[in-house]
Amino acid sequence: MKKKVIAYNRVEKPVLEALQKKYDVTFFKNIDTQNDLDFLKKLSEVEGIIGLELPVDKKLLDHAPHLKIISNVSVGYNNLDMEELTKRNIMATNTPDVLTDTVADTVFGILIATARRIPELDQLVKSGGWITESIEPEYFGMDVHHKKLGIIGMGRIGQAIAKRAHFGFDMEILYHSRSQKPDVEDKFDATYCTLDELLAKSDFVCLITPLTSETVGLIGKREFQLMKKTAIFVNGSRGKTIVEQDLIDALKGGQIAAAGLDVFEKEPIERHNALLHMKNVVTTPHIGSSTHETELKMSELAAYNLEAGLNGQKPPNLVTQPL
Ligand code: NAP
Repeated sequence: MKKKVIAYNRVEKPVLEALQKKYDVTFFKNIDTQNDLDFLKKLSEVEGIIGLELPVDKKLLDHAPHLKIISNVSVGYNNLDMEELTKRNIMATNTPDVLTDTVADTVFGILIATARRIPELDQLVKSGGWITESIEPEYFGMDVHHKKLGIIGMGRIGQAIAKRAHFGFDMEILYHSRSQKPDVEDKFDATYCTLDELLAKSDFVCLITPLTSETVGLIGKREFQLMKKTAIFVNGSRGKTIVEQDLIDALKGGQIAAAGLDVFEKEPIERHNALLHMKNVVTTPHIGSSTHETELKMSELAAYNLEAGLNGQKPPNLVTQPL
């Protein structure tokens, strides 16, 4: 008999089809995972779950007595209650590396779009607002090249951002992480700073840490106050690593100049969110890794992790500690 698996929200079609040949796979999308009866019934039967951002807590795991592995199609795994998974000896995996360059491209793209006001000026042109030969200085942007970029979270993606900034844009790199990284300092001529130093000195502040109990609300009122009034803040991590209302206040009060955001406290973002009505805010719908090529690679890696776990092997991208 085929092993039973749930696929949740996003697994690329060719990968899903390949899994369906080997396993009894049921696909769920956009459901209430606490109350959907079909989902809860399936959960009681499956040995594996593969998918994007399934919120996994004690309550959900109580419905899953046969579960061996949860394979996230993402590098972040803040959707998982790690303590509870470890307690139950259930494996969890993620998809690092394959998305690093794509996310760095996205973050850097948002940074440039915010500094040079590309979405705003796109709207100006399309709405017929470009009526004289050259636009007025009120639409000028801010240079990116040769400026100071502060990266909070100098991990895989942080380093790929630093690479673009250093070699492509002659930027000076400041960084803050839990640990200092001499190899990164050599490669990108980067300088390690305390968080407060980085905030005070940077022209661009880019946040790309995981969401953990340590990083939740890492950037709030105090931190925005430490930034330059001309600073541009870019968040590519998770929405909850900042206090969103404090960002709104900082933008309204002219405490910082602008923000580029791929992630939000609540996703999808609510229509009344003040950020949606600010010209100096560039938004994207959590699309850090969302290219056709990279999403496929992530699904393939997640399927590989899933199969290893189902076969009783150690998956290459295990994020839980084996007991
Ligand atoms: P990674 O290689 O694990 O890097 C994470 C970095 O954050 C590390 O340098 C780590 O420091 C640092 N860090 C962790 N806790 C910290 C803290 N309390 N204070 C300061 N720095 C801290 O992970 P990655 O592959 O680069 O991914 C990073 C995150 O990006 C993911 O977890 C996810 O949340 C986000 N992401 C977003 C998207 C998107 O679509 N927007 C896509 C992919 C990933 P140490 O090295 O010193 O431990």
